[in-house]
Amino acid sequence: MTAASKAGLRFPNLFSPFRIKKTEFRNRIFSTGHDTYLPEGGLPSPALIAYQAARARGGAGLIIIQVVGVHETARYTGELLMGTDDLCIPKYRELIDAIHAHGTKVLVQLFHPGRELLGRPEGVIQPAFAPSFSPSERFRTVPRPLSTEMIAEIIEGYGAVARRMIEAGADGLEIVASHGYLPAQFLNPRVNRREDAYGGSLENRLRFTREAIAAVRKAVPEEVIVGMRFSGDELDADGLNEDETIAMARLIKGELDYLNVIAGTSAAAAGAVHIVPPMTVNHAYLAPYAAKLKQTTGSAVFVAGRINQPQEAERIIAEGAADMCGMTRAMITDPEMPNKARAGLLDDIRACIGCNQACIGHFQLGLPISCIQFPESGRELAYGAKPRAPQPRRVMVIGGGPAGLKAAAVAAERGHDVTLHEKGSRLGGQALIAQLLPGRAEFGGLATNLIREAERHGAKLMKNSAVTAAMVRAENPDAVILATGSRLEKPPFEGSDTASNVVHAADVFAGRVKTGSNVVVYDWLADWVGSGVAERLAGEGAYVRLAVNGICPAANIQNYVRDVFIARLHRLGVAVLPMMRLYGVDDRTAYFLHTAAQEPVTLDDVDTIVLACPNAPCDELADELRGVVKEIHLAGDCLAPRTAEEAVFEGLKAGLAV
Ligand code: SF4
Repeated sequence: MTAASKAGLRFPNLFSPFRIKKTEFRNRIFSTGHDTYLPEGGLPSPALIAYQAARARGGAGLIIIQVVGVHETARYTGELLMGTDDLCIPKYRELIDAIHAHGTKVLVQLFHPGRELLGRPEGVIQPAFAPSFSPSERFRTVPRPLSTEMIAEIIEGYGAVARRMIEAGADGLEIVASHGYLPAQFLNPRVNRREDAYGGSLENRLRFTREAIAAVRKAVPEEVIVGMRFSGDELDADGLNEDETIAMARLIKGELDYLNVIAGTSAAAAGAVHIVPPMTVNHAYLAPYAAKLKQTTGSAVFVAGRINQPQEAERIIAEGAADMCGMTRAMITDPEMPNKARAGLLDDIRACIGCNQACIGHFQLGLPISCIQFPESGRELAYGAKPRAPQPRRVMVIGGGPAGLKAAAVAAERGHDVTLHEKGSRLGGQALIAQLLPGRAEFGGLATNLIREAERHGAKLMKNSAVTAAMVRAENPDAVILATGSRLEKPPFEGSDTASNVVHAADVFAGRVKTGSNVVVYDWLADWVGSGVAERLAGEGAYVRLAVNGICPAANIQNYVRDVFIARLHRLGVAVLPMMRLYGVDDRTAYFLHTAAQEPVTLDDVDTIVLACPNAPCDELADELRGVVKEIHLAGDCLAPRTAEEAVFEGLKAGLAV
């Protein structure tokens, strides 16, 4: 029995084909439509083609191409794919052919965001259009109500773009009615206050969506798949709720070939978290809604939402909760996940940890998609192929954190003889600390995945192996990669050296220090560290004041992760003080400067001050090795303390440079 057929037994449902009309998906794994910031000039680019081809080659059954604008007013970012001109067809054909070449089917999303405009394509705020004058909270857009003429134009756009995508070779189309975008705005009675044929009753509010479906159907041959993505629950007080979406699905089920379920809305903070749910959200959490929808409508149902592992997807399909599983981030992190699952190589799967940093986080910064664990993602043209080393060399990697592990994996993959030395008893560096925070246990997966990657490629990983310059001289490697990380450092404030009540957040997580019942957290980093320690201590019953050197807690991390923190801190009663710079402490007092007002703020009755401040690089060995080794590369925090993303990326570059 081959490995693949054994895996077939292990995941018989996940790897069974699924057919809609004449199109057969080879398995139940699909990549949902997701923004990548890889298009150029509103069209598929070589980078987008390489990105999607990698997922197709990796075994995805279906790829749904990211949102394509159906009308000029749909440009919600500067890099939105557009389909409003026949001239676009050849570029889409190139993209679709590249995916089809690997046996993966392709659907294309048809999109109008309505009032949800997040970018400024021409450098200014463009007018937003919506069913009614209903300002949108999250992006602060104040929309103009759509005239019936404009509605007709947009509906026509759905049909015209559908025709172009089918001419380009797509197997089908998906109308995007999820996340509070235009069709959902029409459906929502709290947003749609029209008094014409498009507002009022459910039938009327559904008219726009039905006309869009009809326009698409009319424009393409009968055998083309037409489905719709919608949020089963927008998870906001003013958003669509489950009863409303089930009622809607009952009415339109006969007009669509499948229903694709997600949750959340772009319009408000709590709902937006579910556009790309972070690690605090349960795995496969939308499967129960999908099951209910399937039972109610009898339609083919697709579902996504933190389905990270083939085991979860197999269960969903086996239980009949859905027909296809969206595993988008699972394949951003590991494009080969389907092939590995099929071959039974489960330990080799690099699982997504739900950090949101380089996938949706990059999109929101206007940067091309990637993954903190797998920086090759989205950079396939530059880093997709790792050239074999012309001559194997002896490479010594010093430091077993994310940078060192990635460097060791890549150098070994290229054929070098690699030995990694970690002075501690565990590999993983700061990922081991991050996983100790409330709700962040999955962060430890970063270490597990990188260790496995390095081992798989044959790197020797030595623990409890502190390296000195003398050792390097004796070993005489061809190249050294220094990834010695960083160490805790106190910022210079009055009392910094003398106060006994000042501790580091990392020491709190690790249980190395005790804190009192009245705590001030000084959060210079404004990332997960300060908010995490505040949440932990408040959860244990302390009164916590979080003094942030920024505008809000977690301001420097991806905003869905940030907003989950802000909600949790609020619920725990943590007092947040923005724009604080610590300049002194004494026994029971912390002295701050308000950085905008330039006025002092004094916090009294403090038992413990917890620092979430920058580390200092551990780079001493770099100086000592100058002249000792022929070639030295620095990667990660020892170069300059930043995040795991930079560490892994620089590890990749160092592994390629030796
Ligand atoms: Fe998953 Fe984080 Fe990678 Fe995004 S950046 S795909 S959330 S591991």
